[in-house]
Amino acid sequence: MEPIELQRRVVTAIPGPRSVELQKRRLAAVAAGVSSALPIFAERAHGAIVVDVDGNHYIDLGSGIGVMTIGHTDEAVVAAASEQLTLLTHGMFTITPYESYIRVAELLAQHTPGSFAKKTVLLNSGAEAVENAVKIARHYTGRTAVAVLDHAYHGRTNLTMAMTFKAMPYKSGFGPLAPSVYHAPGSYPFRDGLSGADAAARTITYLEKSIGARDLACLVAEPIQGEGGFVVPADGYLAALQDWCTANGVVFIADEIQSGMARTGKYYASEHFGVEPDMVLSAKGIAGGLPLAAVTGRAEIMDAPHAGGLGGTFAGNPVAAAAAIAVFGEIERRGLLAEAGRIEGILKPALVELQAKYPTIGDVRGIGAMLAIELVKPGTMEPNAAAVSALTAFAAQHGVLLLSAGTFGNVIRFLPSLAITDDLLREAISVLGDGFASLD
Ligand SMILES: *Cc1c(COP(=O)(O)O)cnc(C)c1O
Repeated sequence: MEPIELQRRVVTAIPGPRSVELQKRRLAAVAAGVSSALPIFAERAHGAIVVDVDGNHYIDLGSGIGVMTIGHTDEAVVAAASEQLTLLTHGMFTITPYESYIRVAELLAQHTPGSFAKKTVLLNSGAEAVENAVKIARHYTGRTAVAVLDHAYHGRTNLTMAMTFKAMPYKSGFGPLAPSVYHAPGSYPFRDGLSGADAAARTITYLEKSIGARDLACLVAEPIQGEGGFVVPADGYLAALQDWCTANGVVFIADEIQSGMARTGKYYASEHFGVEPDMVLSAKGIAGGLPLAAVTGRAEIMDAPHAGGLGGTFAGNPVAAAAAIAVFGEIERRGLLAEAGRIEGILKPALVELQAKYPTIGDVRGIGAMLAIELVKPGTMEPNAAAVSALTAFAAQHGVLLLSAGTFGNVIRFLPSLAITDDLLREAISVLGDGFASLD
């Protein structure tokens, strides 16, 4: 096949005729609960460009929800995974273990925050990492309660949907939910106006009064909330929570499934807030698109469960592990941590400029290549989800893939690949600007 032309190009109506055909088959064959933001079907992708089955080329500002952080079909990832596929496709680490699993654990120990001794368990999905983190924390502490923050997203399995904030679409009709999960108020500076200290005091009061520290196994927090709308906590908030957890024997778990793996210009977003979580969860961007997830934590906590207590058939699959090793290698070799700063340097000022022009943008926030705008009805704090829908639809029509987010559906999140060029980023921004102009 010809290499993909790395540019935006709309050559049919969106969706094009082949996508329309596939949509018909999809509606007949695929469960309705699995929905898609757009009725277009992807065929290929490279770098920051996705090509649909009709040949339309899109600038991808979502990266499959922050998965293709180092770029679609990255050469090093493709080579490592392809080679591994021919050597050992599956071993089942609990039966015939292999080196790549160990190497990923070593890399995670090296790159997650904190210089203490760490150990790792590998899994298949983000939700599975969250589930295992809770299992380990419960085993270690001998306590049962799990605390999470308002607006959190932790997954779709029974335990993790109970830990997720939003009823629709994640929980409604799917109960009974797992017990002993408590939703504490968090820090949402745009909406609560609280300082980090005040927001932390509010969270801690809830933890102490409503759960009680003696029953609390863990507090799970996203350093920057993903699905919840890229909510960046106020200064000092996370550090105050970590201090309280440490003082009370509560395992402090950072769900970095969306914010980790170089997305914010550090390996893990926790580093921006000066916290060293007892456990860090990785998934999305860790293996260049292959399914892999990890729980990495203090060795004494990770070693609490008995032999045989953790694992899974496909968990830490050798092909996915080889891809993850390539991702770590490319982050180092190409200096990709700095690329997040380059992207922020172009995108954030452009979003602030749009905010000055369009009062529907209530807030611009985020760090590195994890940025967002929160849309409101002009002059109010009222969420404006309609504007988000109109803008994402406009962008798709013009060859730009945008993702929504937020408890109120009123946030546009930007998760471009670190491989996106300045030119493509600027072009996507100009489409977004046209989108805002078209709203009036
Ligand atoms: C995506 C996500 C999850 C769930 O990961 P899956 O791989 O979809 O199970 C959990 N936590 C956060 C913060 C996420 O962004």
